[in-house]
Amino acid sequence: MAEAALLNVNNLEAWYGESHVLHGVSFDVRKGEVVTLIGRNGAGKTTTLRSLIGVVGKRRGTSLFKGVDLLNVAPHKVARLGIGYVPEERGIFSTLSVIENLMFPPAWQAGGMEIDEIYSLFPNLKGRDHTPGTRLSGGEQQMLAIGRILRTGADFILLDEPTEGIAPVIIDEIGAALRILKARGMTIILVEQNLRFAASVADRHFVLDQGKVVDEISNNALDANMDRLNRYLGV
Ligand code: ATP
Repeated sequence: MAEAALLNVNNLEAWYGESHVLHGVSFDVRKGEVVTLIGRNGAGKTTTLRSLIGVVGKRRGTSLFKGVDLLNVAPHKVARLGIGYVPEERGIFSTLSVIENLMFPPAWQAGGMEIDEIYSLFPNLKGRDHTPGTRLSGGEQQMLAIGRILRTGADFILLDEPTEGIAPVIIDEIGAALRILKARGMTIILVEQNLRFAASVADRHFVLDQGKVVDEISNNALDANMDRLNRYLGV
């Protein structure tokens, strides 16, 4: 059962240089929940994730995580709060092997997942210890990128479009892994365009449009609200 809000984002604004991109994003995430940020290209989904970890030019508003305002936390200290970020471009070392990638997580704290556990979560990586990142499929690279973040001990994961350009069978495997992580108490924000995938893992969906959250739809109500959602997405 989901608990009280772990993250409370209130009126978050963000700029890249002079360009004002987020115009007051507000949403909350409860412990153990999977929420999605959905919306058209350019709506501000990636920028919202990047704002939470502090890698945009300027920010305003509040993002309270376990009572700490992330806007006051330096980007290199965010991981120590237990927040892990998997960017759309995945962030693995493509010249390093699978095991080397898993041996060098971006930051390390107590509770990091053992390599064997990562292999049982992502069986495609098992037996591939010495395969270089460049030889993995896009989906396997995504699994490795998530695995690296699990090694850090993060219990709050920000995932940017993990299904982008990935074969359907691998998408299903990533979905299964996320459901296992959720069952273990992991909290996840997922930026996603693939509604079928989003519906298979998420509890709630926040719709972004022009740098704001304009709607919230519970996963149970997704089917009933598909027309509304498709209007936002311009489908
Ligand atoms: P997509 O699915 O296309 O990535 P998104 O919802 O994640 O869409 P963002 O990537 O957050 O959208 O982009 C929001 C706006 O900010 C867009 O207008 C985009 O052009 C602009 N933008 C993104 N990155 C930068 C940057 N580094 N410098 C300037 N503007 C940027």
